[in-house]
Amino acid sequence: MDFELSETQRILKKAVGDFSERWCSPDVVRRHDEADAYPHDVYGELAKAGWLGIVYPIEYGGSGGDAMDVTLIFEELCRRWMALGLIYHTAAIFPLGIRYFGSEEQKRTHLRDIAEGRTRFAFALTEPDSGSDAAALRTRAVREGDEYVVNGAKTFISGADVANRIALVARTDPSVSKHRGLSMFLLDTRSTGVRIQPIPKLGIHGLRTCQIFLEDVRIPFTDVVGGVNNGWNVVLRTLEWERLSIGARCIGGCQAVIDDAIRYANQQKHSGTAIGTFQAIQHMIADMEIATQAARMLTYRLAWMIDHGKPCAREAAVVKVFASETYARIARMGVQVLGEYGYTMDFAMQRHYRDSKIYEIGGGTSQIQRGIIAKSLGL
Ligand SMILES: Cc1cc2nc3c(=O)[nH]c(=O)nc-3n(C[C@H](O)[C@H](O)[C@H](O)COP(=O)(O)OP(=O)(O)OC[C@H]3O[C@@H](n4cnc5c(N)ncnc54)[C@H](O)[C@@H]3O)c2cc1C
Repeated sequence: MDFELSETQRILKKAVGDFSERWCSPDVVRRHDEADAYPHDVYGELAKAGWLGIVYPIEYGGSGGDAMDVTLIFEELCRRWMALGLIYHTAAIFPLGIRYFGSEEQKRTHLRDIAEGRTRFAFALTEPDSGSDAAALRTRAVREGDEYVVNGAKTFISGADVANRIALVARTDPSVSKHRGLSMFLLDTRSTGVRIQPIPKLGIHGLRTCQIFLEDVRIPFTDVVGGVNNGWNVVLRTLEWERLSIGARCIGGCQAVIDDAIRYANQQKHSGTAIGTFQAIQHMIADMEIATQAARMLTYRLAWMIDHGKPCAREAAVVKVFASETYARIARMGVQVLGEYGYTMDFAMQRHYRDSKIYEIGGGTSQIQRGIIAKSLGL
């Protein structure tokens, strides 16, 4: 068992760290957070760095990287800017169905454009009446000649307002069991009948989450990914990587909280003594470090399992629960270490407090992940 990063991984981690230092200064992050503004320029820089297509094959314009590479990128980006990590996720993870299940033409049409920042993706599974029970979705796609006609609504779709394409899951066969009658479409957001409306939210400002209304939207048959009625398999593969991505983003967030807590504890004095010398503060920060190390190891192991083609549905759920709950708990402790300043908008700690909560919900709630783990154990 080798716990060392390879030379190439160390170089990548350092390059992303340098990138973040240059493009994600505290001032830039704060301005985008306050204005809930999408960082178009920084997205362009991610494309120039070659990281948007890190997990896509070189022949389609990607960098041919693996799950461990993308894990390191998420971790380093989120150490500086959590919302940028989610924005990066929309390029690196949402279109993965094309890499695994797409036709040759779909790969040629989309992957290079994603890698070079021209095409932006969103992933639309959730509906107003189907969140945790995602396969119960009701958006309906009916075949008419060479097209499908789609009607329905999606909700909480991250980045739909800036996306050119949406990986949209719809019901193509209502006569079979709920998981078997679904297909994934590559919806062009300029299509007639598509209406997108952002929903204001607590955190991850800069990437808006939206409702999508679909009224008689026509999608060419050639934009079905992975075959008709095979959509659930595409979803499962995407969600496995999403859980890795969430683990990696959360450990980046945890590290940012620890860095800020240590800096503050060493600077802030009470009666001439730095609060970092108080055992209560030391133990809080030590607990943050213990949990973060554990979350990092679990996440790196999941990346290794994906890279070695091992079945990992249970491990993906373990990572999703542990890393998200760790980040939320540590963010809460971070606010406590900073005391009253932790509660003000002047310090970044409040942002972690707001940003961390989504990870216990999005990508499958903690309750649903515990259910997956229990079922995999034969319960
Ligand atoms: C900011 C944000 C961004 C998002 N981005 C996307 C996106 O880009 N694409 C997308 O498709 N979706 C997205 N989602 C949706 C997200 O994946 C869902 O919110 C999530 O799957 C939970 O579904 P729900 O909110 O409908 O909760 P519900 O399913 O309504 O659950 C409500 C509560 O009941 C619990 N519960 C439900 N069923 C069970 C059960 N069987 N056993 C035990 N407890 C249960 C849940 O754990 C939860 O606590 C996003 C959500 C948010 C908030």
